[in-house]
Amino acid sequence: MSYLASNKRYSSMEYRFCGDSGLKLPLISVGLWHNFGGNSMSTEAKKILFKSFDAGITHFDLANNYGPPYGSAETNFGKLIKSDLGKYRDELIISSKAGYDMWDGPYGEWGSKKHVIASCDQSLKRMKLEYVDIFYSHRFDPNTPLEETADALESIYRSGKALYVGVSSYSAKKTNEMIKILKGRGVKLFIHQPSYSLINRWIEKGLTKTLINNGVGCIAFSPLAQGFLSNKYLSGIPKGTRVSENSSFSKDLITKKNTQIINDLYKIAKKRGQSLSQMALAWVLNNKAVTSALIGVRTVEQLNENIDALKNLKFSKSELYMINQKAIEGDINLWAPSSAH
Ligand code: NDP
Repeated sequence: MSYLASNKRYSSMEYRFCGDSGLKLPLISVGLWHNFGGNSMSTEAKKILFKSFDAGITHFDLANNYGPPYGSAETNFGKLIKSDLGKYRDELIISSKAGYDMWDGPYGEWGSKKHVIASCDQSLKRMKLEYVDIFYSHRFDPNTPLEETADALESIYRSGKALYVGVSSYSAKKTNEMIKILKGRGVKLFIHQPSYSLINRWIEKGLTKTLINNGVGCIAFSPLAQGFLSNKYLSGIPKGTRVSENSSFSKDLITKKNTQIINDLYKIAKKRGQSLSQMALAWVLNNKAVTSALIGVRTVEQLNENIDALKNLKFSKSELYMINQKAIEGDINLWAPSSAH
């Protein structure tokens, strides 16, 4: 039987306007980078998406190469759109991106107009969609003029293939340049998708100011530092985790020093009545530049725990002070662009 969404789906989620636009995003959004690829979507993965939507999570984030194999998360999501979620299309914000390696040859990655437009067309086909809500340039390309990438984004926007356009992991400098170029073409840079967590603060060194000053929204990816900011790595590396599976999160980051930092942070979370992941999400959302925290989850249990973070979003001054004392020592800076970019 086809999925039917809970009729209570808008009863508890909070939404924030994305920058100075009229579009609201849920405080928590779900990304399909891990756990949604392969030949078909696992039962748990489907449940995650359905339970997310039941909880008012209207935004799902994808990219051309999410899988593995590349493209399979979009293909699987497209099947779910056809079978279950399509009837809610007007309630969903779906995003995709182009820029990382996707297919062989000189046009399979980066920021050329050729790559970005072809990739967007491929994503739409895989997801069985006429349009995505947001389309991103996934990374700054130092070998392509920014005007050309802007040209591609403008073309995608004007053709109606995307309602809004964004950039991901661009530095403050390149974001400013993109804002100006797009503005000159009558297009608004709608959103930036940077990595951000309480142990990864690069956006605070200029980007957040740029975004606020220009009314651009911000959706923070890896707010749990890929799961490091959760209770599970407090005393080792459990099985069935990204680190134990040698996945995108390297065990080199689980140093003695970093483990001490998360244990110290956990003590603060516990006093707030939260798990470490709940405090980490609440903390990201405490930054006024941030529109939404973009999480990944492996299980419905993780999803539910993370949604419960919304029950306590307030921090006292002393909590913030203590968190800063502990967390800044970690400063892992995953995906932070170099200052030249
Ligand atoms: P997170 O920081 O939320 O990490 C997700 C991982 O954390 C999960 O897979 C799980 O790890 C662990 N986790 C989540 N909740 C819990 C919990 N309650 N308890 C214990 N462990 C938990 O985000 P991601 O790194 O997955 O990124 C989220 C999304 O951001 C992606 O899906 C993608 O859409 C986007 N993204 C964008 C990038 C870009 O370049 N623009 C780059 C990376 C991500 P485990 O599987 O080990 O259990």
